[in-house]
Amino acid sequence: MIDLSKYTKEISKLFSSSGNILIICHINPDGDSIGAQLALYHYFKSKNKNVSLLAPNYLQEFLKWMDGADEINIFVKDRKVGRKLIRNADLIVMLDFNQSNRLGEAEEYVRESNAKKIVIDHHLDPENFADLIVSDPSKCSTSELVHEIVSEVNGTKFMNRSYAEALYVGIISDTGNFEHGSYSAKTFRIVADLLDTGIAKEKIINLIYNNFSSDRLRLQGFALNQRMVVIPEMKSAYIYLSKHDLKEYNHVKGDTEGFVNMPLSIKGIYFSALFIEKDGFIKLSFRSKGIFPSNEFASRYFSGGGHLNASGGEYYDTLENTIAYFLEVLKENVWKFEDQV
Ligand code: 5GP
Ligand code: MN
Repeated sequence: MIDLSKYTKEISKLFSSSGNILIICHINPDGDSIGAQLALYHYFKSKNKNVSLLAPNYLQEFLKWMDGADEINIFVKDRKVGRKLIRNADLIVMLDFNQSNRLGEAEEYVRESNAKKIVIDHHLDPENFADLIVSDPSKCSTSELVHEIVSEVNGTKFMNRSYAEALYVGIISDTGNFEHGSYSAKTFRIVADLLDTGIAKEKIINLIYNNFSSDRLRLQGFALNQRMVVIPEMKSAYIYLSKHDLKEYNHVKGDTEGFVNMPLSIKGIYFSALFIEKDGFIKLSFRSKGIFPSNEFASRYFSGGGHLNASGGEYYDTLENTIAYFLEVLKENVWKFEDQV
């Protein structure tokens, strides 16, 4: 855990001295990145700051209902506007990522910009791509960290309903609705404050989690039935989906989200991988239970990274070859599960 008070003065100065603030989430934004972005937006709005929002690419449908989401400019939709926002900003706040390539096409423009840059994030080992990096991997979500920073800078706890809704989306997204172990007692204290604002928690959970198409549910059934391989002796399991499989089920972006978690519910399975065939490469997701450092595995073998128990990467080969390579490198690492109970 980091001592936020060390940063408060510098962050306050950056916030108060900036006329044009631009907040950017990561590419393929998830609920935490958008939640943190919109929470900070509502805070700045309440202080009458001039604030703009940018996402490297499109938001998924299930996040578009959020208050302020229609204010988010999409870089790949209107590059001219995106470049202008970056050029005109005197402070750029980047949320929920630790590598500048998560800015997608916006990366080079952010790099070239003379704006002051601040990163607020909870992923391990951030790259140095900003003037100030506030990184706390002990936090369950960037949203939780944003709330602590906002409250420090504000002097007292900040809260309003739209802000609370955004933070709630961020926290439930990154903890899998309080399933993953990354949350703390403090998380629940914050959530208690969020609920005090009267946010419609059941409605939000339905909008985030119970908002799938029937095709998506059938794809999940198919993935578990036909495309999951369990390797009990390696305490691991994996699911693979080809482009053809995805097409059969009218796949849309986001449909495979969460699939990688499912094999971890099998008794004795501590590591799970998901292989998704893309154009010319394979996108991988990893999840582990307990001590296995899935992020080290991802960065060592699949040019990726992430958190201890949730990570991802990519591999430029066929689905078949990628799975063969995965099994080979998994064998070298399987001893790391030996202490698991
Ligand atoms: P997911 O499996 O949900 O796509 O990603 C889980 C986590 O792994 C993300 O929070 C992100 O930090 C990390 N991650 C996923 N893909 C990549 C990747 O290609 N590179 C890096 N560095 N991290 C990734
Ligand atoms: Mn996050």
